[in-house]
Amino acid sequence: MEQWGFYFDQTRCVGCKACVIACKSWNEDKRGDALINPELSWIENDKYAEPRDLENPTDSDGSLNFEENSKYHMKENWRNVTTQEYGTVLPNVDVLHLSISCHHCAKPACTAVCPTHFVYKDSDKGLVRTDPQKPCLSCRACQRNCPWKSPQFYDDYIDVGESSERIRMTKCTLCVERIGEGLKPACVAACPMRALDAGPIEQLKAKYTQHSESVRNFESDEKSMSYKPNIIFKKKEIKSR
Ligand code: SF4
Ligand code: SF4
Ligand code: SF4
Repeated sequence: MEQWGFYFDQTRCVGCKACVIACKSWNEDKRGDALINPELSWIENDKYAEPRDLENPTDSDGSLNFEENSKYHMKENWRNVTTQEYGTVLPNVDVLHLSISCHHCAKPACTAVCPTHFVYKDSDKGLVRTDPQKPCLSCRACQRNCPWKSPQFYDDYIDVGESSERIRMTKCTLCVERIGEGLKPACVAACPMRALDAGPIEQLKAKYTQHSESVRNFESDEKSMSYKPNIIFKKKEIKSR
């Protein structure tokens, strides 16, 4: 098995969330909210000029469009970008962004606790995937056990009646169809700063020789790292003068 994973360069990321939008858009047919309610399948590529417009859509008078905005926030986030500010007095201020999804861990915390093996680790690229042939009990054990809360659920947000679709967990697939065709994952391809990369983890480690196993704000205590997340980083040092 050739284990795949991610590289994230914290010195390049500007927190624009193009990666998040690309993931939502590319995987729209696989995410639960859009699957069970087609009206939530709302992304129109020519409607918003910038990724940020998708997160904060406005009306023609510039005010926030709450209906569109709430649709954005309904979507499961297979990829997440967080931002932390540092310092209070110029010029000693800085900001650090972190863009992460599932790390397709070598010893996944999620698969270990899934009672039905709905979430499993594949033997080809080591991807942690879901098996549509198995039931998901919606017990959320996988999400609770994952230090990065990567598995996502959608039944909190919408009234789906008796639909059996409501009980499924969804998660990052590492864009398995894209990488099977020799393409980069949608999030990697969309990043305007080239802050993300994906591939066989040993190749990434050889390519990015100065990498580190963690960065500030990445959950990396002893227990988390025991799951062996397949992600490496380039660290950004905080400005201090
Ligand atoms: S990883 Fe790239 S696309 Fe994502 S927020 Fe950072 S700069 Fe933007
Ligand atoms: S990051 Fe979380 S969901 Fe992904 S493989 Fe690791 S434990 Fe499982
Ligand atoms: S690899 Fe694909 S599924 Fe995973 S976060 Fe990136 S775009 Fe989303």
